[in-house]
Order: sequence, then structure tokens, then C-alpha cells
Amino acid sequence: MTLIVQKYGGTSMADADTIRIVADRVAEACRDHQVVVVVSAMAGQTNHLLELARSLQPVPDAREMDVLLATGEQVSIALLAMALKARGIDAQSFTGGQVKISTDRVHGKARITDIEEEAIRAALESGKVAVVAGFQGVDELGNITTLGRGGSDTSAVALAAALKAEECQIYTDVDGVYTTDPRVEPQARRLAKITFEEMLEMASLGAKVLQIRAVEFAGKYKVPLRVLSTFDQGPGTLITLEDQQMEQAVISGIAFNRDEAKITIMGVPDRPGVAFAILGVVADANIEVDMIIQNTGADGLTDFTFTVHRNDFQQALSLLKPVVGELEAREINGDDCIVKVSVVGVGMRSHAGIASTMFKALSDEGINVEMISTSEIKISVVVNEKYLELAVRALHRHFGLDQVTAD
Ligand code: ASP
Ligand code: MG
Repeated sequence: MTLIVQKYGGTSMADADTIRIVADRVAEACRDHQVVVVVSAMAGQTNHLLELARSLQPVPDAREMDVLLATGEQVSIALLAMALKARGIDAQSFTGGQVKISTDRVHGKARITDIEEEAIRAALESGKVAVVAGFQGVDELGNITTLGRGGSDTSAVALAAALKAEECQIYTDVDGVYTTDPRVEPQARRLAKITFEEMLEMASLGAKVLQIRAVEFAGKYKVPLRVLSTFDQGPGTLITLEDQQMEQAVISGIAFNRDEAKITIMGVPDRPGVAFAILGVVADANIEVDMIIQNTGADGLTDFTFTVHRNDFQQALSLLKPVVGELEAREINGDDCIVKVSVVGVGMRSHAGIASTMFKALSDEGINVEMISTSEIKISVVVNEKYLELAVRALHRHFGLDQVTAD
């Protein structure tokens, strides 16, 4: 019998009724697999515990916070094990420490360093389902650690990698990964298959479905990941390695980010060290920079534009004002009413003309492109936020994504 890891999130573990549905799902899988189940805390529980902690200590002690938050998943493993036993399926719950999932000592965002297989293997060999608490581990001193919000996905992938599972199935409340956000484009379709790389580039869409760190981990260890719904039947979306045999769709999806802002410094002297002078200040404040554009210089001057998260916009602007003076640049300005829209697809590597198709689609709609950046499998544009929906729908249609037939 092959082994699979299934992970159920908070919405699947919402109450006794949904936990029974989870138990049904696990029972189905048990018919022809050994099954390890990873669970999150019941919906809302982690947030509730966070609030409680903050009401007692404004910045809660990191070690005690992990002791507290890990209880959410401990509740879930016990309840699911009971639900399985009630259904006649033998199961055994495991906390992170009982497995043992070892991590470094960074409370609140620990990294997994090792997973012991013995205890889980023993449970599986004796015909039990192993029900493991996601999101938690123990450091070398035995302190409870947690992996960061959404960390149960990473727990599941790490267990699947350690146990060499055939597949890691992430059960959630949507039935897969879509060509774009269906709330923006109702014609969006579920993708049958997508590569790890594409999924990472579609982070803005995928982040709602699964933790990006888990996708990176799965790609690194080549663990096939499948996203599917606890509440609907269906094959979901398989996230896997690129398949050379298959005819690939050129574009897999349209991703977007609403929370962007851009900053432009104009008339900057065109000499070595300028980019560092500007971006160094921003990086020192731990502000992440996304797109960066420097114009070709003219008369010894150039313009420099980059984007940051909207939350960091004001801070970046005020940090840079003195720099503008020091560099004797002409002026600095910014715009926090912009969004980024991207077309993503591994097929881009072997097809020419994707960029021109994209710009034609945007120009047909009268949408002005303010910035452009490309990677091997993605082309992104910055446009005014008022064009977001229009741009996403136009691109979705132009690249035929409403025609994609899943499976
Ligand atoms: N319960 C944790 C959280 O809410 C971990 C998870 O759900 O994956 O972030
Ligand atoms: Mg979650």
C-alpha cells in the first residue's frame, strides 16, 4: 500500500459536523493507502488565542506564545482521532514533539530541521491512521515551537517528504487553483495541473489556498501537491514538476497584487553607487522592493522607479527624502493607487509573442501600462488600480483561459 499525507485546514475542522466529514474523507483514503493526516487548529482558534494573549501582555513572550498557539492543533488531533475511532477506523494522535518534528529555536517562525519516522511508521504498520498536529515542532531543548501562520501546510509537505509519500493532499474550502480569482473574473477555471514554479509566481492567487513556503518546500523535495475541497468531490489541482510529454497551455493564469505602490526619483546623477544609495536605505528598513526600473541616462541624469508594498509606502518616501537631497536629484514622487497584473506560464519559454499579445489586450481596453517587468515564466505590468478588473478580464479572455478544460 502506498502512503499519502492529507492536510485539513481550519475551515475543514470548524465544528463536529465538518470533523465528521473529514473523518469520511480519511476513511475513503484508508481503503487503498496508508494515511498520515495533518490538521490545523479549528477555524478562528489561532486568532482567538492570539487576541487573548495580547490582552494580557501587549507583546506576548515568544516562548509562551508558542506553548499557547500549539494547543489549537492539539485540540484538533484529539477530536479527529475520536471521530475516526467512532467510525471504526483506528487512529493515533501525535503532537509535533511526539513525532518528533525537530525545529530550530526561532519561536513563532521556526524551521523544521528533522523529522523522525519511527513512531509514525509504527502506527501505520499496526494499521492505524496517524493524526499529526500541524504548525508545531520542538527545539533541541524540548521547547514547543510554531512554524508561522499557515504553517500546517509546511508540516504536511515536510512529513510527505520525510515519509516519501506518493502525494501530499491539501484539503481546503476551495476545489483547486484557478486561472485567476473568480471574484474578479467569473469565467475563471480550475486548473487540472500546474507546475511548482507557476504556483510560486501565482503566489498572490495561491496564497489564499496554500502557504507559499510549503510550495517551495514541495518543489525542492519533489513532493506532488494536490489542492482539493473537503466538501466537494473532484480531483482538485495537482501541483507538480513540469511534464515534458504534455502539450502545455502557454499561459496558466493571471495573477494580481492590489497592495502596490511606486516611488520615482527623477533627475538622479547617473554614476556608480546611486542604486545602492537609494535601495540600501529601503532595505535597511526591512522594506521589500519588488520591481525596479532605471531609465537609460541622458545628460548624466537618470530616473529611478521601484515598487513597494502599500503599507511601506509612506515610510519609504520619508526615508528617501534626505537621500534625494544628498544625491542632488531633481525630485521624488510616489503613487499608491497602482496594482500589478501578471500573466504566468511555463509555456512562455517556448513561445514568442506573449508580451505583444499582452500589450495589445491592454491597449485595446485603453489601459495605460506604467511599468513592465519580466521573468522567464511571467510578465508583469503596473497599472492604475481603477483598471485592475478590466485588465484581468481582458487578459484572461485574450489568452483563452476561459476555454481551458480541466482534467
Ligand atoms: N493554525 C495555524 C494558523 O492559523 C496554522 C495553520 O492553520 O496552518 O496559522
Ligand atoms: Mg491554514
